[in-house]
Amino acid sequence: MADVRLFEKDPYAPIQYGYEVTEVLYRGTSEYQEFAVVVNPFFGRMLILDGVVQFTERDEFYYHEMLAHVPLHAMAAPETVVVIGGGDGGVIREVVKHPSVKKAYLVDIDPEVTRVSQAYFPTVASGLDDPRVEHCPMDGARFLAEFEGKADVILVDSTDIVGFAKSLFTPEFFGRARSILGPGGAFVTLSESLHFHFPIVREVQQTLRASFPCADLYTAPIATYAGNWWCFAVGTNGASLRVPARAPVTPTRYYCGDIHRSAFLPPFLYDRLMEDGRESF
Ligand code: SAM
Repeated sequence: MADVRLFEKDPYAPIQYGYEVTEVLYRGTSEYQEFAVVVNPFFGRMLILDGVVQFTERDEFYYHEMLAHVPLHAMAAPETVVVIGGGDGGVIREVVKHPSVKKAYLVDIDPEVTRVSQAYFPTVASGLDDPRVEHCPMDGARFLAEFEGKADVILVDSTDIVGFAKSLFTPEFFGRARSILGPGGAFVTLSESLHFHFPIVREVQQTLRASFPCADLYTAPIATYAGNWWCFAVGTNGASLRVPARAPVTPTRYYCGDIHRSAFLPPFLYDRLMEDGRESF
């Protein structure tokens, strides 16, 4: 067997991850990005976009469950959910486990992500045909600018904060998200790693604080994201997401009430994160 390795080009990490590759199942280019689906002996199939690992069969559930279930379980009966990015379907698969959800908009700029996921990651894409899901292939910032309804939850599951994903981290975008949420609603976006991207994590919190009455942060252990200690940034109109409002949906592999309550940064660490110039706790 040839010794093939994938060296990840993470835009902000001070180290590089190298993965053994035993098979390349797909390579292609869409209007927006370069695709590869490869096999690693430990992680199984991996989706790579523009040289950056998006998820692997082995560990995708940590990320997808935590992005979806923390905000959804903090509410008694969320009905309308907007997922921006996430064309692979991993987050939608978790969202549609909630019986109260009546409508979920999936807004990925690149429909090719959905096609590749359905072809190579059927267990990730399994919720994409749910009749409550409406596919809206367009830029997430444009979608929110034109959206006339209200949402209970807005989730951003985008690529890293570079290139066309940057439009999802601006004060205008956060402000628009806030105006679409009802009083008990929640906005959650990825926010990089506390080990490697401390100033970026703080900057996203500062931008959220300028747009929402309440900002917060929770984390999850993701093996394949640079720095591993992955952050989810929260903006709300005042509601706290720290405590689940009901019993967990089933099935989940990682998410549960105890994980939900322990995932948020304790106040003393949150305060340190927000100190100007700090690079770590
Ligand atoms: N769900 C995965 C994970 O575990 O992190 C990966 C994230 S998903 C593949 C990232 C998606 O964000 C890509 O499919 C990309 O097309 C989409 N995306 C990036 N910028 C976007 C934008 N401005 N509007 C809508 N979708 C965007």
